[in-house]
Amino acid sequence: MLEFARAGAAVGSTTATLEKTRVLSAYFRTLDEDDLRRAAVYLSGRAFPPSQRRTLGLGWSTLSKVVSSISDLEEGELGSLFRKHSDLGDWAGEALDGSTQPEAVTLEDVGQTLEAIRTARGAAKARPLESLLRRLPPEAARFFVKIVSGEMRIGLSEGLVEAAVGEAFGVPITQVKRVHLVTGDIGETAVLCKRGEFEASTITLFQPVRFMLASPVETAPQAFERMGASTVWTEEKYDGVRCQLHRQGSRLELFSRDLKETTAAFPELVEGAPAIGHDVLFDGEVLAHRDGRVLRFFELQRRLGRKKVDPELRRDVPVVLVIFDILWLDGRTLLDEPLTTRRQLLESLGLEHPFLLARLEEATDPTHLDRIFAETRERGNEGLMVKDPLSPYTPGRRGLAWLKLKRPLATLDVVVTVVEWGHGKRKDVLSDYTFAVKDTATGRLVNIGKAYTGLTDAEIAKFTRVFLDMTVEDMGYTRMVRPEVVLEVAFDSIQHSGRHLSGYALRFPRIVRIRDDKPVEEIDTLERVAELYDRYFGTATEVPLSEVAET
Ligand code: AMP
Repeated sequence: MLEFARAGAAVGSTTATLEKTRVLSAYFRTLDEDDLRRAAVYLSGRAFPPSQRRTLGLGWSTLSKVVSSISDLEEGELGSLFRKHSDLGDWAGEALDGSTQPEAVTLEDVGQTLEAIRTARGAAKARPLESLLRRLPPEAARFFVKIVSGEMRIGLSEGLVEAAVGEAFGVPITQVKRVHLVTGDIGETAVLCKRGEFEASTITLFQPVRFMLASPVETAPQAFERMGASTVWTEEKYDGVRCQLHRQGSRLELFSRDLKETTAAFPELVEGAPAIGHDVLFDGEVLAHRDGRVLRFFELQRRLGRKKVDPELRRDVPVVLVIFDILWLDGRTLLDEPLTTRRQLLESLGLEHPFLLARLEEATDPTHLDRIFAETRERGNEGLMVKDPLSPYTPGRRGLAWLKLKRPLATLDVVVTVVEWGHGKRKDVLSDYTFAVKDTATGRLVNIGKAYTGLTDAEIAKFTRVFLDMTVEDMGYTRMVRPEVVLEVAFDSIQHSGRHLSGYALRFPRIVRIRDDKPVEEIDTLERVAELYDRYFGTATEVPLSEVAET
C-alpha cells in the first residue's frame, strides 16, 4: 500500500501528463497480476470495478467517527482541518499523522478490508475501516481514504491510466482502449495487456459489454457515401429500449444502454431463457408487443425501471426482445466476425417468441435505400438503421459501420409563452422556453412543450434581453412573456399528456430555427398536432419484424 501511495503522490505532484504516465507505468511494471488489477481499479477512484456492481456504502459520519477515534481530535478540530484541505484523503492523512502504528499492508489487505466494509451493515462498517487505518502510515492512510471516498484528486483520468497500462506493457493505446471497451473494467484490461491477450477473446458472460452506436445521416446518398460500401443492410429503427442479453444455462441477465442490470423489469425474457438452447450474448431492443403489433414507446415506458412487474401490467404491456446482433455464442467471441456471419449464426438458432429477429433488407444503391426508407416512413416509423454487412462489432464506438437514417417527421411553428432561468452555467440566462400552438376552436394559445436545446449561447444571451423586456409576469424562477417569438421546433414524437393545456406533449423537442419572418397568427394549430399524432404516434404501429417474428 505504501508503494501505491507513493506512486499516487508522485502522480499528484506533477501536472505534466507525460510524467504522470511515466510514473504510473513504472509502478505498474513492479506489480503481479492480482495487485495490478487492484491498483488500476483503485487509481481510477473506485473501490470495486464497475463490472462487479458493488458499492461500499460508507458515509462521511462513519469515516469521521473512525478518524476522530484514532486521532483523538474533536469534531470541531476535524472540521477546521477539513476546511483546510477540502479533500477527504488529504484531511485523513493529516489528522492521523502520528496516531497510527504502521505495519506492512499489502493491496490484498486493502482489498479484503474494502470487501469487509461492503458486507458489514451500518455501524459495523467502522470496525474493518478502523482496523486498517490504525496499521497505515499517514501517507498510505491518505490514499486509502481517497479510494474509500471514490475520489483520487491527483489529476488522473481513466484515459491516463489506460495510457500508463499501454506504456508499461508496450501495448498501443488504441489496443488498450479496445480491450477496456470490451471488458468494461480497467483492472481486467491492465492484466490482459500485461499478458498480451488483447485479441477479442475477452468477453466474460454477465459482464456487460459497451454497446456499438450509430452515427446519424440524413439522406440515402449520404449513407452510401459515408459507409463507402456498395451494398448495405437496412434494419427498422425500433423505438424501444436497447438491451443486452447474457444467457448461460438457466441464468439470464439483461443490461440497459448504460450497462445497468435490468433483468427484473422483463420477466418474460427471463422465462424464455431455457428455450434459447445456447449460451449467448445478444444485442437488441426491448419493445412492447401485443397481438402481433408493436406498441408505442409511451406504453413501454410503463414497464421501465421496475424491480417487480405485476401480472396486470405484464398482460397490458407484454414485451419482446428484437435481436439484431450476437456477440458471443457457446464460448466463441464473435466481435471480429463480419455482420454477415453474426446474422447467419443468429438465424441458425431457431429463436422463438419472445425473442424475435430484426427484419433485414439489403439495398444496393441510394435510390433503393430511399425506397426502403419511404416505406418505413409510410408505416409511421421515424428511421432506418443502415449497417455495413462486412463490419465487426465495435463496442462503445459511434463509427460509420452503423448509421441511422432519420429525418424529423415534421416540424412545428410555435410561439414562446413562458421562459425559465437555466441551470449550471446557464443559470444567469433565460434558456428554457415553453411554447404553444393555436387552438383555433377557442382562439387561445395552448402549451405543448418545452425546449432548451438548439440555440447558440449568443442567441440565448440575446433572447434573455428580449424576454426580460417582454415579461408580463415575473414568477421568480419563470416568467410569462408576451407571445411574440416564433420558433420552429423538431421533435421525436407526440404523446398525450396532462401536463399541458393542449393535451399533448412533444418528446425531445429542439429548436431548429427562429422564425422572425413568421407572424404569430400563422403558427401551427392544435388540429395539425392532432393530425400528426393520429398519423404517426396514435395507435400501435406496423413495425415489421423478421419472418421468425411472425410465427
Ligand atoms: P439513437 O438513440 O438515435 O442514437 O439511435 C440508436 C439506437 O437505436 C440504438 O441505441 C438502439 O437502441 C436503437 N435501435 C433500434 N433499432 C435498431 C437496430 N435495428 N439496430 C441497432 N440499433 C437499433
